[in-house]
Amino acid sequence: MRIQDLRQRLQTLGANPRHTQRVLRLWAQALPQDGGRRELTSFLPATLVAALPALSEELAGIATLVSEHPGEDGSARLLLALADGQTVESVLLPRDGLCVSTQVGCAVGCVFCMTGQGGLVRQVGSAEIVAQVALARSRRPVKKVVFMGMGEPAHNLDNVLEAIDLLGTIGNIGHKNLVFSTVGDPRVFEALPRGRVKPALALSLHTSKAALREQLLPRAPRLTPEEIVEAGERYARASAYPIQYQWTLLQGINDGDDEIEGIVRLLHGKYAILNMIPYNTVDELPYQRPSWEQAAAIARRLHQRGILTKLRQSAGQDVEGGCGQLRARADNPRARRVVPIRADAATSISAASADATLS
Ligand code: SF4
Repeated sequence: MRIQDLRQRLQTLGANPRHTQRVLRLWAQALPQDGGRRELTSFLPATLVAALPALSEELAGIATLVSEHPGEDGSARLLLALADGQTVESVLLPRDGLCVSTQVGCAVGCVFCMTGQGGLVRQVGSAEIVAQVALARSRRPVKKVVFMGMGEPAHNLDNVLEAIDLLGTIGNIGHKNLVFSTVGDPRVFEALPRGRVKPALALSLHTSKAALREQLLPRAPRLTPEEIVEAGERYARASAYPIQYQWTLLQGINDGDDEIEGIVRLLHGKYAILNMIPYNTVDELPYQRPSWEQAAAIARRLHQRGILTKLRQSAGQDVEGGCGQLRARADNPRARRVVPIRADAATSISAASADATLS
């Protein structure tokens, strides 16, 4: 379901644009639709007032909570059901953050990501994205939303931009507290500067080598790391906000001296932060997580070379890894071990948690 479907529905109930904004604002902020009875009847048409109870139920039904899985770090993974029975995950992050899903599944097919192995099931509508925020806000405050759950936001651009526009205006979330995360797509670099809400941008780099990147992210747009950083730098300067480059650290694959040199070559002097997240090992995939000490040493070396590097830990690691696991378990309740996530969602999730920062 899309926000524009909601707008049309409200229009048929007699709402003018101001009435519609009120209903959508209260919904996105998880405030009651029927607060202040006298004001309500004097402001909204009678047809809409009469429909409000049913409408509130409809809005609450766009995404409903299936289960909640608290982590030891203050995060909590939420498994949500959409109206057609598909499920997605959101993660409540420490310090009032929320990670939302933008697709059921993902078509990019990153080799280290279980979500990517299953392909795309369907897009998540813009109303379903905002509904994740509304549901989270009914449980705790949300002041930051990162689009780093299941899915590649660039592959669902219209819905994601529609949700960002609402959240960054009547949704009452600061523009730079909305974080669009992508593997890097020309359509994103064209679209983001044109929006009235210009979110922060996170770009999944993972390696400084074009050939390795093609192997690791087989169906990502064929942009070289240089082209990605060049486009990222343009957006950083235009939006006056640094790019967050995401780097899922895979032992023996992208943790060598050559990559350190590559990162320095790419990012030195750039308006950028490098978020380095040690990979979460899963049985089904052959990739290994480097030790925290190894990862810390790499981050320290980068820091010494002038690269602002933050070493991140995934939020809710004790809840069996990351996004995708809960959904996999719900789809296959007999699964003994739950399937993990897109590795960069762990990245992203941790981006808001800032558990370990080298400075
Ligand atoms: S890591 Fe992200 S972009 Fe890659 S397949 Fe997984 S969900 Fe998709």
